[in-house]
Amino acid sequence: MVDLALSSDQQDIVDEARAVARRCLAPRAADHDRDATFPTDNIADLHEAGLLGLLVPTEYGGTGADLTAWGLAVAELAEACGSTALIFAMHSGAARLLAADAPGNPVAQRVLKEITTEGRLLSWGFSEPGTGGNILNPQLRATSDGDEVRLRGTKAFCTGAGHADYYLINAHSGESEFRRSQTMALVPAAQDGLAVKETWDAMGMRANSANTLLLDCRLPATHCVGGPGGGMPLLTHALPALILGLASASLGIARAAQGFANEHVLRRKLAPTGQSLAAFQGVRLHVADMATTVHTARLTLLHGAWTAENDPLEALGALNMTKYLCNKAAISVADTAMQVTGGHGFLRANPLERHYRDARAGAVMGANLDALRDMIGKAALGLDPRSDSVTAPTGETRP
Ligand SMILES: Cc1cc2nc3c(=O)[nH]c(=O)nc-3n(C[C@H](O)[C@H](O)[C@H](O)COP(=O)(O)OP(=O)(O)OC[C@H]3O[C@@H](n4cnc5c(N)ncnc54)[C@H](O)[C@@H]3O)c2cc1C
Repeated sequence: MVDLALSSDQQDIVDEARAVARRCLAPRAADHDRDATFPTDNIADLHEAGLLGLLVPTEYGGTGADLTAWGLAVAELAEACGSTALIFAMHSGAARLLAADAPGNPVAQRVLKEITTEGRLLSWGFSEPGTGGNILNPQLRATSDGDEVRLRGTKAFCTGAGHADYYLINAHSGESEFRRSQTMALVPAAQDGLAVKETWDAMGMRANSANTLLLDCRLPATHCVGGPGGGMPLLTHALPALILGLASASLGIARAAQGFANEHVLRRKLAPTGQSLAAFQGVRLHVADMATTVHTARLTLLHGAWTAENDPLEALGALNMTKYLCNKAAISVADTAMQVTGGHGFLRANPLERHYRDARAGAVMGANLDALRDMIGKAALGLDPRSDSVTAPTGETRP
């Protein structure tokens, strides 16, 4: 049975994330957004607070948090700074993939320890210029050559590119079907043959540095998580964190927009009556819409996280709906907040216009809302969400 109450350990993690978000991230968010600067200071503060290792198992010095506490922590960070939350979510998803292989993999063990002791940052390079968000079919090649693996290709929109310490890169590595033969390569930032092309000048998540990676390099085969061609089973462990992280960031942005709007409609008094905007029923209906949308998004996040931890067979379906609802919640709440805050919402001096721009990111990130909707529709019809076949399970048709 789903229990939505937080344990004291979970609540402590959320409280710590909220404290760092309010004390450190919030005051810098507008500057990082305006200047499109990578928030190195925020990452150092997350490390200082012990949050960079939230999804790192305790044996490597991490917290070993569950996805519920972690997801709510991402939302807290996003309420202050969407870009930092996204960077943190990508880093944590990559750490979770390493953790799945760590028991038999000394390289993964070392890097996980570096995260918790030195604050090393991971980045997740799966999207490509050719295949876009279809991350399970990489065109980037990994070819084995003795004790080495050669990587050749390009990764697009890689959050933290140019600032991360390691890049987790997926590559097509075999003659057989792509999905079964993927290599997950851990590429150090200083690797010969790795170059960052600065392409990130975006409307939202401006501090994200989601740049392009150009790779033509040779790595020791020991840097392939799960072994060369053996990365795919690990992805099933990491994917829930990635999907949930994008949903959580959206929840945080929705809450930030809602919070700004609610405060504004209570404070803003109109002449000649002197009554606040909250006196208009039309405004209160918008406030109600925002409240119920945020409430629904939080509930679905808690359910998705619980399902990912406790019911692996149902996890993907639940997480797809979680991401869908949370991404849409951010867009709709930010839009409604813009309406009820009038011209003030437009001002760059206020944070709402940043939330409005940041809210768009989750919808185009893997899996994008249209692909998600298609998968949800297939699942609802009892069809295989990953197949294009629409053959019904039984051949019967009603008259
Ligand atoms: C802020 C930000 C940070 C990012 N960070 C990372 C990162 O760290 N690592 C990483 O690997 N990637 C990252 N990405 C990339 C992201 O996950 C997507 O891969 C990318 O946004 C896809 O862009 P595209 O132009 O290639 O979209 P395309 O793949 O060309 O898709 C464009 C549109 O076509 C439609 N569409 C595409 N495929 C389907 C489908 N199967 N079914 C239905 N409709 C479809 C959708 O409407 C979609 O939005 C980031 C992107 C952003 C915006």
